Amino acid sequence: MKFISVAIDGPVGAGKSTAARECAKRLGFVYCDTGALYRAVGLYCVRNGLDPKDPSEAAGCMGKIKVDISLVDGVQHVFLNGEDVSEDIRLPEISMAASAVSAVAEVRKALLGIQREIAENNNVVMDGRDIGTVVLPNADVKIFLTAKPEIRAERRYSELKKKGVDTTFEEVLSDLNERDYNDSHRAEAPLKQADDAVLADTSGLDFEQSVELICGIVEERRNVL
Ligand code: C5P
Repeated sequence: MKFISVAIDGPVGAGKSTAARECAKRLGFVYCDTGALYRAVGLYCVRNGLDPKDPSEAAGCMGKIKVDISLVDGVQHVFLNGEDVSEDIRLPEISMAASAVSAVAEVRKALLGIQREIAENNNVVMDGRDIGTVVLPNADVKIFLTAKPEIRAERRYSELKKKGVDTTFEEVLSDLNERDYNDSHRAEAPLKQADDAVLADTSGLDFEQSVELICGIVEERRNVL
């Protein structure tokens, strides 16, 4: 059986995860947030005193860790050596560690199989940075989701505030710019729009409008598949 795959890539805070999750729900597809995998590796480094920016330390730890994704009541959970780390990986310092380890070829290679296996066995909406370019180059639908940096930072800031994380808007904006710069300038699978991806800008859109925009692109493409 041929499964349908929707690849959504884009910078931090473009609304990928929230809109893609809702869009997957409406389509009846599995939602896969691939950033969670890199975050789990970043978490391992931080917990074990390894420097995520040191490629040999990040590459070396891949032999010691097992990262898994599974669905619990339809919600994606991430396991690091059997421990559910779905909450711990969301802290801001883990975002930076994830961005650092994600530049390491051995890390990306080790996580590639998990992502492809999900798409081979499910109708999936998968979001990340390199889904349309590297992970699923033959995805049925590719979307590059973006928005102005200040708007993305504002969304991320209010998300973190709601969770009780102590931070400022300026700090969030600077972290976001640094992460986007790292992600789009690395040699391995940099963040970029695939040639055949549809560009979608959510700058002036609220959550419901962003979901409708993505679902609309998917439906339009599905009609011609
Ligand atoms: O999407 P999220 O912000 O959770 O991703 C955390 C980090 O993981 C990103 O900043 C990026 O460096 C990395 N990542 C990646 N490739 C993906 C998904 C995430 O390099 N497909």
